[in-house]
Amino acid sequence: MKIEIVKTGINGEGIGYYNNKPVFVPHVLSGEIADVEIVEQNKGYSIGKAKKIIQSSSKRVQPKCKVQKSCGACPLMIADYEKQCEMKTEILKQSLIKYAHVDPKLIQPILKSEKIFGYRNQCKLPFGMEDRELVTGMYIPNSNYFNGIEHCIIHEEGIERVRKQLLAILNQFKFKAYDFHQKKGLRSLVIRAMQDNYQITLVGGEHEIPQACIEAIMQIEGVVSLWQSVLTQKKSVDIFGNKMILLAGSKTLDFKFKGFEMQLSPRSFFQLNTKQAEKLYDVIASMVPANTNLLVEAYSGIGGISLTLHDKAKEIIGIESIKDAVVNANMIAEKNKLDHVKFVCDDAAYKLEYYAKKRQIDVLVVDPPRSGLDEMMLSTILKSKIKNIIYVSCNPATLGKNLAVLSERYQVKKIQPVDMFPQTQHVESVCLLVRK
Ligand code: SAH
Repeated sequence: MKIEIVKTGINGEGIGYYNNKPVFVPHVLSGEIADVEIVEQNKGYSIGKAKKIIQSSSKRVQPKCKVQKSCGACPLMIADYEKQCEMKTEILKQSLIKYAHVDPKLIQPILKSEKIFGYRNQCKLPFGMEDRELVTGMYIPNSNYFNGIEHCIIHEEGIERVRKQLLAILNQFKFKAYDFHQKKGLRSLVIRAMQDNYQITLVGGEHEIPQACIEAIMQIEGVVSLWQSVLTQKKSVDIFGNKMILLAGSKTLDFKFKGFEMQLSPRSFFQLNTKQAEKLYDVIASMVPANTNLLVEAYSGIGGISLTLHDKAKEIIGIESIKDAVVNANMIAEKNKLDHVKFVCDDAAYKLEYYAKKRQIDVLVVDPPRSGLDEMMLSTILKSKIKNIIYVSCNPATLGKNLAVLSERYQVKKIQPVDMFPQTQHVESVCLLVRK
């Protein structure tokens, strides 16, 4: 059937209507008309497959990546960057209106990314076998089907160089992809890049990695830190196992960020687009009111936000649940002589409740994972007397739902979207809330 695509869905797919029911059609842009075959019927919606684009958008471009469609990580690569930014803004708007009735006029123009390819400072990929060779790739979304990927154009170029050199070495030493029965082999690869230095973590079974192999890997230009992580449990939400072994080089990946000496352990989170992270943090800083005494940052990672805000508050406390990240953050604060900035390892909601009872918190910055703020966090905030909240979100859906709850006590003043992930449907946004 012929369907006109009228908007963009949260996963970057096109949405059109048939018999007043929405039809979600991947790989089609709003403004286009497509010949669509319905592949799945559900109660309130259907899923379609575009057999042909009948009328194509002037914003459509040929994707630069050969496996764009099968990989699924970059659904917006079929549009020019201008259109991608429009789509992201639309996704954010729809969600905030739908869940929290936010006035769309509060949404500022999206801050674009200078680099639209080669911006990702980390790769996290499963290993698999292809023609008896160990490769890295992706599982086709919602399936067990593994696709080897030769080259990824959103990774920083250096990551791709290191990844290819590393695979050649691992194949030379006859490494295989993980075997669940034998609990042997390699499961996933994590490479992090910071200013031409690289940290590699090989996640897999509990086997010894030969010294000659370790030495060969350390010969790859720029590799400064090599870890092995043992993960033998079949299902795991965490990409790393509990056992982390430093094979060679330094424990942390050290780098300079906004003039600070930073350090990262494999388990610690850091923003994936280093250049845009600077912009994101500047946006947050611009929202902190003058004369702030106590600022609490929940979900603080290695403390990038708190460090950037060091001159905006008399005292800053970061709360983070990953111990390694807290160790990194406190070390960074100490190295940079910021005595009034400290980090504690705890559940954000639990520790915030404790501080909110004891002290007056002027500003709370939250930067939660995609799942958003949990119930305890929301109720702690509502019960507290926190004056201002800066909510940094990477998921418009959970942001919308959380704002709906917080609107009981807080008013949205401003929302600034920032594009951290060109070619993908993801949109980061910073939202300023003030207590009513
Ligand atoms: N603000 C940081 C990190 C944001 S990512 C930055 O800009 O780099 C979200 C962080 O929340 C991760 O470091 C994750 O480990 C942490 N986290 C997830 N759930 C948490 C919880 N319940 N309590 C505290 N921290 C949590």
